[in-house]
Amino acid sequence: MKKTTGTDRSVTRNWRPATRAVRGGTWRSEHGETSEALFLTSGYTYDDAQTVADRFAGDAQGMTYSRLQNPTVAMLEERIALMEGAQGCRAQASGMAAMTAALLCQLSAGDHCVAARAAFGSCRWLVDHLLPRFGIETTVIDSADDAAWEAAIRPNTKVFFFETPANPTLDIVDLAHVCGVAKAHGITTVVDNAFASPALQRPMEFGADVVAYSATKLMDGQGRVLAGAICGSEEWINETLLPFQRNTGPNIAPFNAWVVLKGLETLELRAHKQSENAVKLGEFLEPRVQKAGGHMLHPGLPSHPRHDLATKQMDATGPIFAFDVDTRERAFAILDALELVDISNNIGDARSLMCHPASTTHAGMEEDARTAMGVTEGLLRINVGLEDIADVTEDMDRALAVAGI
Ligand SMILES: *Cc1c(COP(=O)(O)O)cnc(C)c1O
Repeated sequence: MKKTTGTDRSVTRNWRPATRAVRGGTWRSEHGETSEALFLTSGYTYDDAQTVADRFAGDAQGMTYSRLQNPTVAMLEERIALMEGAQGCRAQASGMAAMTAALLCQLSAGDHCVAARAAFGSCRWLVDHLLPRFGIETTVIDSADDAAWEAAIRPNTKVFFFETPANPTLDIVDLAHVCGVAKAHGITTVVDNAFASPALQRPMEFGADVVAYSATKLMDGQGRVLAGAICGSEEWINETLLPFQRNTGPNIAPFNAWVVLKGLETLELRAHKQSENAVKLGEFLEPRVQKAGGHMLHPGLPSHPRHDLATKQMDATGPIFAFDVDTRERAFAILDALELVDISNNIGDARSLMCHPASTTHAGMEEDARTAMGVTEGLLRINVGLEDIADVTEDMDRALAVAGI
């Protein structure tokens, strides 16, 4: 396979972000194809036995088996690493495969992990149920309380794990502060950056060690495939992540990697336009929601307690926000009255989608824990898409009226 400048860091590191998103990581085969090739192959063949022996010994570069390397997957990994400003990246089968691998690859029985209370339901399941089963202690804190992070540290604390903005309550973590506390104590930060994507927020610029993704969300952005990714230093990837990943196999399929590669080409445009649309819709909804006694949870609006911090550490505040009404019945009435916006629990999609977290994304949690993190019975979460925002606004306007708001 012929290498192009897309994989030469001495060239690509000088590219600006939009260029990296379109061209970073591109390898071309002998055919010189314009679009990235899809290598649907599980294995590789070799000209002679010594070649493969050298590759397995680590003395020569080259593919050996698609659980270890695949050209299409490698292109995705290089592109995400470039966009993130990371030394390395490894793609994963899904966002949850990424979160699981990022935690289990480095935590052992007797270690302690401090995690944000506001988090995606499955991320909380890892913290509340999976890690403790293997003798890993966990403490869940209010991630927007800056002092809580240091206060939760124990002699055996190894990892801080959090999302910002968090799903679905849009809590914002002060990245520079929390990563600084972690660094001072030799703790590794694992940031789930799914709500922002590297187009809107690059946690490593604020000192994060590991950035993990559901690439299902903004990176694909068109609701097609499950995908995930983990970014880190070359040393951390090679010595900590890869021994786990190569032997447990949470790999992404080359086809799914290819779909996400194509999604990344338009990520910058989509993420910024959807953020803009989300602010417009939020501004329209806020007085209506507040008049009905509800709250807007939208980092792009001045009413968010961490609006200034969000706009400082993010390039734009993203397509997702939440608000609450008084009861589940009223929340369902709004969803059922929508004509354009779909009832769907995905996010990052080019389509506007709305869901009721308490009965969907966070239904697996105990009610007490769910309420403590702000996922009330009346909470609704919306992903604002790329439709004309006037049409989305009219749909919401009508749905709220039907529900008596
Ligand atoms: C969706 C999501 C995940 C899980 O990603 P999948 O690709 O669905 O496995 C993890 N974290 C956050 C914040 C998410 O929104």
